[in-house]
Amino acid sequence: MNTDPKRVLVLGGGFAGVYTARYLEKLLWAEQASITLINRENYWVYQPMLPEVISGSIGLTNVVSPIRRLCSRTNLIMREVENIDLKTQVVTISPGFRPRQLLLEYDHLVIALGNITNFHGMPGMIENAMPFRTLADAMALRNHLIQVLEEADVEENPELRRQLLTFVVGGGGFSGVEVMAELNDFLHLVKRNYLHLRNEPHRCVIVQAGDRVLPEMPEALAIFAQRILRKRGVEIILNDRLKAATSEKAILQSGTEILCRTLISTVPSALPQVIQKLDCPKERGKLLVNTSLELKDYEGTVWALGDCASIKTVAGTKVPPTAQHAIREATTAAINIAAAVRGGERVEFGFEGLGTLGSLGHGAAVAQICGVKVSGLLAWFLWRSVYLMKMPGLNRKVRIATDWLLRLLFPPELAQTKVCTRYGVS
Ligand SMILES: Cc1cc2nc3c(=O)[nH]c(=O)nc-3n(C[C@H](O)[C@H](O)[C@H](O)COP(=O)(O)OP(=O)(O)OC[C@H]3O[C@@H](n4cnc5c(N)ncnc54)[C@H](O)[C@@H]3O)c2cc1C
Repeated sequence: MNTDPKRVLVLGGGFAGVYTARYLEKLLWAEQASITLINRENYWVYQPMLPEVISGSIGLTNVVSPIRRLCSRTNLIMREVENIDLKTQVVTISPGFRPRQLLLEYDHLVIALGNITNFHGMPGMIENAMPFRTLADAMALRNHLIQVLEEADVEENPELRRQLLTFVVGGGGFSGVEVMAELNDFLHLVKRNYLHLRNEPHRCVIVQAGDRVLPEMPEALAIFAQRILRKRGVEIILNDRLKAATSEKAILQSGTEILCRTLISTVPSALPQVIQKLDCPKERGKLLVNTSLELKDYEGTVWALGDCASIKTVAGTKVPPTAQHAIREATTAAINIAAAVRGGERVEFGFEGLGTLGSLGHGAAVAQICGVKVSGLLAWFLWRSVYLMKMPGLNRKVRIATDWLLRLLFPPELAQTKVCTRYGVS
């Protein structure tokens, strides 16, 4: 009988992948299984707090956590997953400094590669719209905002200055609303540092395809959110969507054109290429799994979870792509993988969600927890407490709490993080 440790391969270092590896470390001894995680970055991103990087409420590296510290017994490979061969049970990893691909065999595979922003069929969006999903996106947006303000401050043409001071966000779901709320707060706070912009108005626009923002929330809370955003100067265009873009404007489905130099799009999404080319059962492009989160036709060997999987609970509810669900899915997958490795009971996914929370910028949020609706300052405290509590590790908790405290005392950071190394060398 083969007593070698089973090879468990986890693809993706987001909520689903990292939490699966963490639970597996608790459930399986090193003699029972080796755990390997492959991710593009060597850190895990706490996406719910990512919009706060824009306004500098949270420092850039405090919103991420090194995977090596989160999963100390897991072998991390910081590379790109290029191919998954489900039949031969081999995953191909991109070359690194040495120009050769790595081939990794597995006994059990976890696919948790999340999703990506998809600008397909939207002319000009790839070149001119900014996605908002990764730490790099948040850094790029923050730097771009500062660049635009610097340019607007020296621009004499009022038309052009107005265009530079117009900011459009496509998508009025949680991420779109949170991004706009933080961006708007940031502009209000830093404009006073620009001699020519102090009395200059800026324009912030959310474009939402539905008839209200935050479709994930009960209507009353969404209406409250709209009221707060509008009170803070955000324009909300409903029942319309981004269709195309140029370097000078956003073009909407209705034909409306908004002159702007900043266009951020949080919708729509698609699956990563490596999943798109996988030949296996899918639903709307997502990997189809059973209630034990096993990939259809590959039960006992392959698990898929997080934003890249199409999941239903035991009660038949469609599972939304959120962090709180991804964490619970990771527990289910880890228990079932451990059972496949060393025997034991399997479990089915039954988590129906605890509620939803959304920030509307400084001092305001909306929340529905266990059926109770809360809005305003109380919801904002709740939002901060819940997400701070959920951040793994005391180190990051303290850093974030300190950042928040400092933000109450001082204005936001306005230094641009230029990464060009050419200056200063002759
Ligand atoms: C701005 C924003 C705000 C959000 N706010 C909330 C919120 O308030 N509450 C909430 O519950 N949810 C929120 N979400 C949703 C939540 O973050 C996601 O549902 C969750 O991150 C999904 O986890 P995941 O592991 O499936 O995917 P991800 O977290 O996206 O992780 C996927 C990982 O796979 C890696 N990867 C992908 N392809 C490859 C490849 N080919 N090779 C190597 N690595 C690869 C990626 O780099 C990434 O690290 C938010 C999302 C965003 C973008």
